[in-house]
Amino acid sequence: MGISDFETVKPISKGAFGVVYLCRHKLDGQLYAVKVLKKADVRRKNQFKYVKAEKTIMAAVDCPFVVKLICSFQTRENLYLVMEYVQGGDCYTLLQGIGSLSEEWARQYMAEMVLALEYLHNKRIIHRDLKPDNILINSDGHLKLTDFGLSDMGLMDKSELSVLATPTTPAGMTPARLRSPRHRSPDIVGTPEYLSPEILLGQEHSFGVDWWALGIILFEFLTGLPPFTGDTPE
Ligand code: ADP
Ligand code: MG
Repeated sequence: MGISDFETVKPISKGAFGVVYLCRHKLDGQLYAVKVLKKADVRRKNQFKYVKAEKTIMAAVDCPFVVKLICSFQTRENLYLVMEYVQGGDCYTLLQGIGSLSEEWARQYMAEMVLALEYLHNKRIIHRDLKPDNILINSDGHLKLTDFGLSDMGLMDKSELSVLATPTTPAGMTPARLRSPRHRSPDIVGTPEYLSPEILLGQEHSFGVDWWALGIILFEFLTGLPPFTGDTPE
């Protein structure tokens, strides 16, 4: 399978490392989300390790609350990740539209993310970038977690901690700008609002970082804002 087997319907999102397109398979008409990463960008930012982990992890998971990778391929310039298409948008966009969620609604979403994290942690996978824009809503109203671009499988390698511990954010950015993937500086690895103290302090971290982020998200679901906001990341 290659990119010529698909036709592009529209771009869904432009992130720090690539663009996600809604694509239709030419033979069966099935819709997919295709994440396109430019090899030159990945190389320049020294991110091959993360992209490889993203692909390996997404291909290895089989959980109703995690987005499935259908296949992957590459051309000379690009890497392609073909994922199931999750129609209902992401939780960041949902919150922007309606502000906050009812307790009942938030409880349902939390339960589904707890199941997703339990599943991943049992497989020794730490997501490490849990935030509303990485939580997608399916057409049946259920959630699917995506974006394993910062994830890790197995025991943490200490050399990675320094990368994660330096979220060099331009001073003066508002939290809203920081939270938008479109305005995220390419230097930021992880999103300050959701980072646990141990990551911010550059200490060893484990599965707890995902539970920390989920707690932040619950607060944000209920109130419309994450608990820790400020004009600067510090
Ligand atoms: P990035 O590294 O740019 O954050 P993501 O994998 O999080 O990349 O994708 C960016 C955005 O694209 C998501 O926030 C979501 O809105 C959309 N998206 C990603 N994957 C899918 C998918 N499988 N189905 C529908 N939309 C998706
Ligand atoms: Mg993302």
